[in-house]
Amino acid sequence: MSVFFSPDKPDAGDIDLTRIYDAIVVGSGAAGGMAAHVLTSHGMKVLLLEAGKKLNINKELKSMEWPYDHPRRGAIPPGSHALSLNEYNIRPRPYAKGTSYNHVYSYVERGTGADYSKNIVVDEKDHPYTGTPYAWVRARCLGGKTNIWGRLALRLSDYDFKAKSRDGYGDDWPISYKDIEPYYDKVDLYLGISGHKEYLPYLPDSIFQRAVRLTKSEMMLRESLAKMGRVLTPYRAGVTTDGLKHNKYRSRCYGRGACQRRTGGCDIHAAFDSPTGLIYPALDTGNLTIRTNATAYEVTVDKETGKARGVAFIDTETGKNYEARAKAVVVAASTLESARLLLLSKSASHPNGMGNSSGHVGHNFCEHLMGPSVTGLVKDLVGKPRTIDDGRPGNFYVPRFRNLADRNPNFIRAYGFEGSSGNTMFPAGVYSAPGFGSAYKKRVRDYAGAYIEMGGFGEVLARYENYVDLDPGVKDKWGIPVLQFHYKFGDNEKKMAADMADAAKDMFEQAGIEVVSVDREMLTEGWSIHELGTARMGSDPKTSVLNQFQQSHDVKNLLVVDGCSHVNASCQNPTWTIMALAWRSCDHLADQMRKGEV
Ligand SMILES: Cc1cc2nc3c(=O)[nH]c(=O)nc-3n(C[C@H](O)[C@H](O)[C@H](O)COP(=O)(O)OP(=O)(O)OC[C@H]3O[C@@H](n4cnc5c(N)ncnc54)[C@H](O)[C@@H]3O)c2cc1C
Ligand code: SF4
Repeated sequence: MSVFFSPDKPDAGDIDLTRIYDAIVVGSGAAGGMAAHVLTSHGMKVLLLEAGKKLNINKELKSMEWPYDHPRRGAIPPGSHALSLNEYNIRPRPYAKGTSYNHVYSYVERGTGADYSKNIVVDEKDHPYTGTPYAWVRARCLGGKTNIWGRLALRLSDYDFKAKSRDGYGDDWPISYKDIEPYYDKVDLYLGISGHKEYLPYLPDSIFQRAVRLTKSEMMLRESLAKMGRVLTPYRAGVTTDGLKHNKYRSRCYGRGACQRRTGGCDIHAAFDSPTGLIYPALDTGNLTIRTNATAYEVTVDKETGKARGVAFIDTETGKNYEARAKAVVVAASTLESARLLLLSKSASHPNGMGNSSGHVGHNFCEHLMGPSVTGLVKDLVGKPRTIDDGRPGNFYVPRFRNLADRNPNFIRAYGFEGSSGNTMFPAGVYSAPGFGSAYKKRVRDYAGAYIEMGGFGEVLARYENYVDLDPGVKDKWGIPVLQFHYKFGDNEKKMAADMADAAKDMFEQAGIEVVSVDREMLTEGWSIHELGTARMGSDPKTSVLNQFQQSHDVKNLLVVDGCSHVNASCQNPTWTIMALAWRSCDHLADQMRKGEV
């Protein structure tokens, strides 16, 4: 049993803890929601443990509330504070230690409309972490970060899965694109994705619903990039633009653009979120039990077999400890929290933490670097009548173009750009426009629709030396040891960032877009909110934690189905891949359990 807690008697009240479930799923975000959906669809009885609350998300998001209907035009209340870039780089960790604010949030709560997501994200005061600077954005509530995610839904290809075979660095994944392709298709069809086919081998197309419309300036850039052999494609949004007949909890996107004006979120659930997309349909099978306010702090072990016996958790409201039991445990608490849970789960048979005989849990931690960006002006659009460009759930994406057929002399791997343009409710350039009074207003109106900008997302190499472990001294509000970061960008990332800024500028110039500004600085580690790799999959149990079905090499009835398992970060946003892999692994688990192999 735990070195930290000993569970109280099994009387959690609202759920039956005397029962042995077929599976316990820890976490209810993209990964946990998918696990619950797939396992219950196989008829398995599943208990879902979620650390956060079940919020009335529609009441939280109020997507159509106008800024003037909010007492602070959407800003978080006085006495609350969201961390800035400088604070991340300079303040000692834990970031909220010694603060006089009532609540401290991550940087995502700095934007306009952040008040609508303040109950979705964590208060840094309750959830500290230590070590090297890191902007760690977490959501604790049913659905996790999917309630506010940015929705860019991309596939990986064999340029990613077999990257080592191409450039010699790191490791190949134990799967190829053909293994995961049917599952990407299932995710597309079940959840809905909007986009436009481009037939690129390095960014495979999905089964798309209606694409978002490109603006004039985006079309201009698309045409110019085509001459350079590059592509600009409408944002591939994890949003149903044509509707989903099989899901009564979601509506099709009717282009309110509200998800763009705030930290995120869509109260009609056109944008995918795990509760309406996966968990409520799973509940309808009658096979799912959900326990919220239940923070897992240990995967417990059967002393006889060394296999997982269940999960010990603490009720975050009462502080009471419980153990739930199951034939299989599926960890899906997000890349860093799942690593923390495995490391916390020390026992005589797993002295290094559960599934960690390789010593690789917490290591090979990778993500995407952000920062370099360009802003430009399409002069021909200045002073033109306003167009309605705001009603889009996303704008545009420029896929990778480096290290495809050629080899860049300075860095390996690649980056892509996310960008936006056009008229929006809050006009672009409003802060930098010169002038005063009516002249200023005219200037803002004339220029608003003429701006275009894009920022890079680049692959951070997976390195054993970049890792998290448990801090020996610091605990969270519930007495659970916290993570300590040992994580830094390296030389490859710095060189890639320099190239991102140069390439972005060059692409605008070649398209005849006047460059207004170029940002060359890298944002603090963690900014992309795409943490990956802390329990990677592989064929060799000495150098990897999971097999190709995200099943622990050491503990057959333990799966870790979130971004932990990624062997490298690639440069594409990870959520669609997380869900496709989770679907594949849970199908495999159900099959093994049917055959009595687990
Ligand atoms: C503002 C924002 C924009 C984003 N944009 C994009 C994008 O455009 N494209 C993209 O691909 N990705 C994007 N992401 C990232 C995306 O949200 C994540 O990749 C995805 O949610 C990961 O799913 P997950 O299930 O691993 O983690 P989460 O969604 O974070 O879910 C994990 C869940 O586990 C729970 N949990 C944690 N610890 C425990 C514990 N010990 N016990 C029980 N439960 C626990 C948490 O409360 C949470 O509900 C964005 C994220 C944010 C915040
Ligand atoms: S634009 Fe679409 S996805 Fe975004 S909030 Fe509106 S309906 Fe939802």
